[in-house]
Amino acid sequence: MPSKSALYKEIIRYYDEVRTASAARLREKRMELYSKLPRIEEIDNEISMAGITMAKAVLNTPSDAVEIANSLKESLAKLTAEKEGLLQENGLSANYLEMEYQCPICKDTGFVGDSRCTCFSQRLVDLAYNSSNIKAIVKQENFDSFDLSYYSPSKETGEEISPRENIQRILSACLKFTKSFGKTFDNLLLYGSPGLGKTFLCNCIARELLDRGITVMYVTASQLFKAIEKERFNRSDEEDCGDYLEDVLGVDLLIIDDLGTEFTTVFTVGELFNIINTRFLNKKPVIISTNLALKDLSEKYSDRLTSRLMGGCITLKFFGEDIRILKKFRK
Ligand SMILES: [Zn+2]
Repeated sequence: MPSKSALYKEIIRYYDEVRTASAARLREKRMELYSKLPRIEEIDNEISMAGITMAKAVLNTPSDAVEIANSLKESLAKLTAEKEGLLQENGLSANYLEMEYQCPICKDTGFVGDSRCTCFSQRLVDLAYNSSNIKAIVKQENFDSFDLSYYSPSKETGEEISPRENIQRILSACLKFTKSFGKTFDNLLLYGSPGLGKTFLCNCIARELLDRGITVMYVTASQLFKAIEKERFNRSDEEDCGDYLEDVLGVDLLIIDDLGTEFTTVFTVGELFNIINTRFLNKKPVIISTNLALKDLSEKYSDRLTSRLMGGCITLKFFGEDIRILKKFRK
């Protein structure tokens, strides 16, 4: 994934290009119209001169300022009406000579006041995830294609409900998480045997949120640690250092898949705790999926991390037969 600052630069350049192109198109349109309807050019000139004319008049006779302003208003209204009439006679809309924006909210600047426009966030997501493969993955996997019939309706020993009832509960917890994302602060810990749809559900959530313009970063635990280690140990450019970690901490939703399969070191264990802890403190949601049982999780990592996760996450336990194998048999 390219760094955030590189993406920002690319987006700012994009808006510049859009505005330059629209301005050029508008100039062309105007010139064409002026040559067809010269009176419109005269009117436009009169309108743009009106302010200066008024300023001069007020300077000469300040006592008449109110009258001058009123008569100016009147003549501007007349000119505008004449222009609109001419445009209409020629089958053109009144705003024919106004700038056309792709995003009328921010007028293609990407910002509304000091905050990013939604179109900016959307571009950020698009750029970031077109360069990764998450869009392709989530295309096939969404809540509608989740098939409950693979899960057994009969109870297993040691469990209070059947795998199907269990997956129904999990599914509705995931849907609720998705629905209330941004309104409430929740985190999910999906754990249990492999092949029961944990990754699939992560993808479903990612897909729904991406469609809403929410930034989602989806990484496997080993990808995450490799990238962080690489960044830590290749600190050549001081300014760019920490970009990846910045994304990991700043993205709206961080999904860490397959926790427990990676090679852990004291360094990665500490790093993982910092990521989870920082995101929790900043109320930035996390979804973690692992094939480990909870007791193995605390053995492999630390009690500190496990208790942080247990305290901060809605825990969803997966059990039943591996549906990947069932799917193969059914085909
Ligand atoms: Zn916008």
